[in-house]
Amino acid sequence: VQNPDGHGQDRLARWRQEHAPNRPKKHMRVLVTGGAGFIGSHLCDRLISDGHEVICLDNLFTGKKSNVAHLMSNPNFEFVRHDVTQPYEAEVDAIYHFACPASPVHYKYNAIKTLKTSMLGTMNMLGLAKRTGARILLASTSEVYGDPLQHPQTEEYWGNVNPIGVRSCYDEGKRIAETMAFDYHRQHHVDIAVVRIFNTYGPRMVENDGRVVSNFVGQVIRGEPLTIYGDGKQTRSFCYVSDLVDGIVRLFESGLTGPINCGNPGEFTMIELAEMILELTGSKQPMNFLPATPDDPMKRQPDITKAKTLLGWEPKVPLREGLKPMIDDFRHRIENALYKSRH
Ligand code: NAD
Ligand code: UDP
Repeated sequence: VQNPDGHGQDRLARWRQEHAPNRPKKHMRVLVTGGAGFIGSHLCDRLISDGHEVICLDNLFTGKKSNVAHLMSNPNFEFVRHDVTQPYEAEVDAIYHFACPASPVHYKYNAIKTLKTSMLGTMNMLGLAKRTGARILLASTSEVYGDPLQHPQTEEYWGNVNPIGVRSCYDEGKRIAETMAFDYHRQHHVDIAVVRIFNTYGPRMVENDGRVVSNFVGQVIRGEPLTIYGDGKQTRSFCYVSDLVDGIVRLFESGLTGPINCGNPGEFTMIELAEMILELTGSKQPMNFLPATPDDPMKRQPDITKAKTLLGWEPKVPLREGLKPMIDDFRHRIENALYKSRH
């Protein structure tokens, strides 16, 4: 398989043999930044069950210790409270770099900190990869395509991003993170992988993180109207978290650089999503139409031809099925919180 950036696999394999003889190993010491967050914690679960040692590094801005509480007594798991904008030293074979707030509400809260997390955080992790010879996977995003003029989005599309808008701290932050990853690869031969993740959902999302699936599910359970921004005809494509984690691990193990899109191509309008959640919960809550948010992309759907052909990956869980465990998880957490507040 030819690497998409033009480097042959042979050349990479030769380089790795000379410079990173510790890799690839069956049982690796893996650093997961953002490991106490939504996707990161599911990734920690997967890596532990694959037999790896995991260092979960997180500053707990949006992540929670409770997401990894079940792993704390595992001798192969270690939690480290640390901010990736500061250098971190450890001897590791692999780095999955996920630290960054992902919900628009969270990343806009302190836009400069979001930028620093993507810029300084990614630079620190690439530096660590350079010193240790670890392979590093960067969690990038479909937001690098901005409000896309190409539909569905292939990896070749350069995007339509506002460089000075309220979403730019996240979009441009991830774009510079990708640039840094490829420059460390070209200049210092750091072994990189870049995954462009499309909207992902599932258990352990923060109940009030402002993202659409978590908002709608939380609102239905609390008996509130569903907030629709704009006319609700904008589209997104939602991937269940276990499918996503599988794609990410496959990319890591493939030795390819990417970038590779990972997402579920099933495309829904926000009204269709709201209707599905109302139907699954048997709720009759109304939809409350509110003004659109600035720079809100109108369409988003991944072209996953590369993931299919290069990784043999495609998502298996349809939206209707994936919503059920998420609704159960949210119901459990919201009812527990209500019970605690009353007793
Ligand atoms: P999340 O907010 O649940 O997880 C992010 C984690 O990073 C949190 O645990 C947070 O505390 C931690 N973090 C943030 N800033 C940090 C810092 N400076 N130092 C250390 N830790 C820090 O979000 P998520 O949905 O799990 O997203 C994880 C990654 O995947 C992010 O990089 C995000 O950009 C990317 N991504 C997610 C989606 C999605 O739909 N969920 C889509 C595209 C890309
Ligand atoms: N959205 C909505 N109601 C909500 C939250 C979000 O209609 O309560 C819309 C939002 O305007 C956007 C889409 O849902 O068009 C997806 O928003 P989200 O924040 O989940 O992700 P992103 O915009 O980053 O894809």
